[in-house]
Amino acid sequence: LFSGPVTFVLSAPELKFLPDPTVPEIAFAGRSNVGKSSLLNALTGRKSIARTSVTPGRTQELNYFDVGGGEDGSPPEFRLVDMPGYGFAKAPPAVVKKWRHLVNDYLRGRQVLKRCLLLIDARHGPKPVDAEMMEMMDIAGISYCVVLTKADKIKASELARIVAMTEAEARKHAGAFPEIAITSSEKGMGIDELRGFVLKSAEG
Ligand code: GDP
Repeated sequence: LFSGPVTFVLSAPELKFLPDPTVPEIAFAGRSNVGKSSLLNALTGRKSIARTSVTPGRTQELNYFDVGGGEDGSPPEFRLVDMPGYGFAKAPPAVVKKWRHLVNDYLRGRQVLKRCLLLIDARHGPKPVDAEMMEMMDIAGISYCVVLTKADKIKASELARIVAMTEAEARKHAGAFPEIAITSSEKGMGIDELRGFVLKSAEG
């Protein structure tokens, strides 16, 4: 696990509510229902630090979690940022527009953002909305790693096909890492490796 405690800090519906930009941040993005809350819970070893989604698209906020620090008012080592999910079919245009502004402004303007983890469901591979997200991150100049989620749900042969497909998409994008992380929050697969990657990203 991470060496220090993990605590929920705040939910920010607008950038003006973000904490002071003095601590490195690692952000998590993905379609609604991709398994983002489950992955954050698995990484932090907390059962429900991130709320698993009840109503898709309900949370249009950046959720902040401090990792480490806190003793005698010392600053956290880094922060995990849970970005609002995207790609749900029934979202009204106004909600999509608000999402786009919030995420785009965050990606482009947040100096302490070190890296993004882009979560993609291992059963489906990248969808056009994921490619759009990658493009937004490319334009913002953010480097990101693709994380396949729910890998326990498919057979190894099918997983290999999806990994190849995801690598092909990632190769089209400037900011994407060539390696794809394969995870299952349910089975604990790939979680230790991903936690190591998060730590390294926060330090680098
Ligand atoms: P979010 O909307 O991206 O935060 O997704 P959630 O974490 O709420 O997960 C959406 C659904 O997928 C829930 O029913 C989870 O139980 C399920 N889920 C998440 N991760 C996994 C996993 O690794 N394996 C399996 N089998 N199901 C998962």
